[in-house]
Amino acid sequence: MSTIFKKIIDKEIPAEIVYEDELVLAFKDINPLAPVHIMVIPKKEIATVNDVTEADEAVLGRLFIAAAKIAKEQGIAESGYRLMVNVNKDAGQEVFHIHMHIMGGRHLGPMLVKKE
Ligand code: 5GP
Repeated sequence: MSTIFKKIIDKEIPAEIVYEDELVLAFKDINPLAPVHIMVIPKKEIATVNDVTEADEAVLGRLFIAAAKIAKEQGIAESGYRLMVNVNKDAGQEVFHIHMHIMGGRHLGPMLVKKE
């Protein structure tokens, strides 16, 4: 089932796009949790990391390549940043189209997850 991210890919709804190539798209998060908070998504609709297959190797690699380029462009490559992919409900995944969060521009703390 398609999500709001498919509408962003198809330019049916607006987003602040910062990077695009034939495999991936990146845009600013609508509700940023850090000075830089960007989503990188595959153009192919894949709901979660649980759904990836060997056929997705190229696109999954491209997510990291795009993330590295964007981090440089955004000026956070050297100061540091966090890449995060939430999967299903315990991780709080809200949009069921794989997305990599790029967060940076401030000290993010040691981990987002606290020990119970
Ligand atoms: P998740 O919790 O699924 O890992 O993250 C989904 C992210 O997508 C959230 O950080 C949320 O702010 C962002 N998001 C949800 N809907 C939209 C939208 O329509 N536009 C943009 N730019 N970001 C969105």
